[in-house]
Order: sequence, then C-alpha cells, then structure tokens
Amino acid sequence: MFASAAAAERALRAVLIERKARLGSKVLMTANGRCNFTKDISPDDFLRDLKLPGNPHTTAKFTERAIRECPPRKIIAGFKSLNIPLRRMADARMFPANGQASTIVHAFGDILRESAFPIITNAPVNGISRLEGGGFAVETRNFAICAKNVLIATGGASYPKTGSVGDGQKFAAALGHRIVPLRSGLIGLETNDRRITSRAGARFEEARAKVISPDGRTLYEHRGEVDCEAFGISGAAVYNCQRFITHAGLRDFEIEVWLGKDRIRFRNLKSRPLKEAIVTIGGVDTNEINPETMESKIIPGLYFAGEVMDIDGPTGGYNLTLAFATARKAVAAISEKKHGKTHHNHRKL
Ligand SMILES: Cc1cc2nc3c(=O)[nH]c(=O)nc-3n(C[C@H](O)[C@H](O)[C@H](O)COP(=O)(O)OP(=O)(O)OC[C@H]3O[C@@H](n4cnc5c(N)ncnc54)[C@H](O)[C@@H]3O)c2cc1C
Repeated sequence: MFASAAAAERALRAVLIERKARLGSKVLMTANGRCNFTKDISPDDFLRDLKLPGNPHTTAKFTERAIRECPPRKIIAGFKSLNIPLRRMADARMFPANGQASTIVHAFGDILRESAFPIITNAPVNGISRLEGGGFAVETRNFAICAKNVLIATGGASYPKTGSVGDGQKFAAALGHRIVPLRSGLIGLETNDRRITSRAGARFEEARAKVISPDGRTLYEHRGEVDCEAFGISGAAVYNCQRFITHAGLRDFEIEVWLGKDRIRFRNLKSRPLKEAIVTIGGVDTNEINPETMESKIIPGLYFAGEVMDIDGPTGGYNLTLAFATARKAVAAISEKKHGKTHHNHRKL
C-alpha cells in the first residue's frame, strides 16, 4: 500500500495486485487493531534498536539508507499531512489517535482512490516469470500482466489468513534467490509450568525478561510487559527475548521473567509456531538485494519491500517502519530509473 501510494505520488504507471478481497488485512491486526505504525525516535536510535548483541546486525546494515531517507519522523509527518490525528505514547510509540488501525489503511485507500491508482483485489499472483528481452509476466489464475519492473511486497508467512503466506519468497526462490529459512519472530514461549498457566490472562506491565547462558551470563534483557497465557508466556519483553534467542540460534538457554515480585526461571522454552508470529525471521537474502535501490542484484527489474526480505525488528512500530521505508526506497529507485533523479522535498511519501 505504501509503495503504491508512493508510486501514485510519482505518477508511475503501475498496478497493485492483492491476493485478498481487501487491502491491509495484517495492518488491521497490528497492535490489537490499534496500529503502532512507528516510533518517534531519531534514525540513529531506530537503527541501534534493530541490533541484537552478538548478532551481525544484517537488518540495521541493510536498511540504514532506507531508514535515513524515510525516518520515523518523516512517516509521522506524512500521516499528519493527511490530517490523521496521532497519539504519541510515553515510550514514543505512535498510533492513530482514535486507536483504529483502519484509519491507516483507509488513508492509503484514499490516496490510491484519489489518484486513480489501479488496484486488483482478490487476485492471488501464482507466479512471476522473466520475459525474453526483459521484463516479467506476473500471472494470476485469470490473467497475466507484463511489466518492466516488479516489486514483491507480499510480506512474511505468519497469520496466513491475512494473505501473507510466503508466496513472495517462493517466487524469489524460483527466480534464483536464496531464502534464509523462515522462523517465528516476536512470539510467545511455551511452558506447562503451573506458576504461569494457573495465572493465564494476567498481565504484568512493568515486568522484565532475561536470556541467560548455561554458565549464568545474561545474554539479553528487555524491560516491558510479560503476560501469562494458557500456553506459556508472551508480552513485549518475552517477544524481544524470543527474537534474540532465534537470531542467536540458541538451543541451550535459560529465560527468567519477573512477575511482580516473583522471579521465575525456565530452561529451553520452545517458540509458538510461525503462523502465530508477529513477524517472520528469514526471507529473501539481503546479500542479493541492493540496499540503495531494493533491486535484486541477480535479476534486474525485480524489487523487494518489507517483510518478504530477511529483515525484522523488535516490537514497537519497527516492522511497519521497515516496510514503509524499504517500499519508499524501491519506488524512488524505479522512478529514478524512469525519470532520472528528481528532488521533491514536498513529497509526503
Ligand atoms: C498480530 C500482529 C501485530 C502486529 N503489530 C505490529 C505493530 O503494532 N507495529 C508494527 O510495526 N508491526 C506490527 N506487526 C508486523 C507488521 O504487521 C508487518 O511487519 C507488516 O505488515 C509487513 O508489511 P508487508 O507489507 O511487508 O507485508 P503484509 O502487511 O503482510 O502485506 C503483504 C500483502 O501481500 C499480499 N500478498 C501475499 N501474497 C500474495 C500473492 N501471491 N498475490 C497477491 N498478493 C499477495 C497479502 O495478502 C498482503 O496484503 C504485527 C504483526 C502481527 C501479525
């Protein structure tokens, strides 16, 4: 949606093809339907927060240019210029003031409608093939569209009912791209421990969670909400620890949570399945994508944006910001290829 709005603003001849009957099904689910669309912090702080201790920081390195050109404050200014009242939380997370994610989805819908940008919904793409002499055929069951450039922004593989089922990764793989294995990111951890399951439904807002090595070293710590669930533990502090554990590939670890005054330690908890994850870790290998343009390094004219790539951030508005910034970068690059470099400081997107 962001890519199409940016393409509409640049008057690019393009079409948006969406598998579901409506746009933005996943965005509607974000932050329990409230849409934490970014965090009101500097690009330096944003990039720092993407990093995990002991990790090669691939997301931060790969998205740095995109984030510097489309930082959180530009996204905030963009929504403000669309007359959307916004709410800033004490921790800098940003939401539409009415607490409704549909406001964000409708804002994109309005831009696309007002600019007569073509949208084909209810049309799952089932393949992208290269044409002799350049360009691509994007195929659905009932029609195919030929295009010089294709931007794959099909998301991760979690909550498949929202439409993101991992198709883009399959298309990219069929065209020769390497796919970093898809895993759950920002998700709860399973335990049958009665101290947790007997409190299912309880939320601890000022809590914290820690990841500890078998020899007792704290590897990662996050302060924030910890929730007790029938399956185990969840909440922002747990999600960020789970993201650390998955990226570090830890098999033997302890996790400690503070619930009020109770300190509880567990060993080697399993993550909930990918289909329930907030974000997909893994995706199209960013080593094969140019961070200046989001264009494939192996297939000219093929572009990527958002979670389909092997990029992910912590909870707090980082993942939508990554999707917006990479979409903007890709569209700006396609536009420059067509029209040459133009400077439009008044651009909203
Ligand atoms: C429960 C939940 C809560 C979240 N909360 C937040 C939050 O508060 N803040 C935040 O920053 N992030 C949040 N996220 C993460 C965020 O929603 C995603 O990272 C973001 O939506 C990724 O954007 P995207 O455009 O890459 O993919 P998506 O938003 O998944 O969009 C991809 C689109 O491509 C379409 N598509 C897929 N395959 C095809 C195909 N073959 N043909 C045609 N169309 C196709 C899909 O139908 C979908 O509409 C949350 C995620 C979940 C699941």
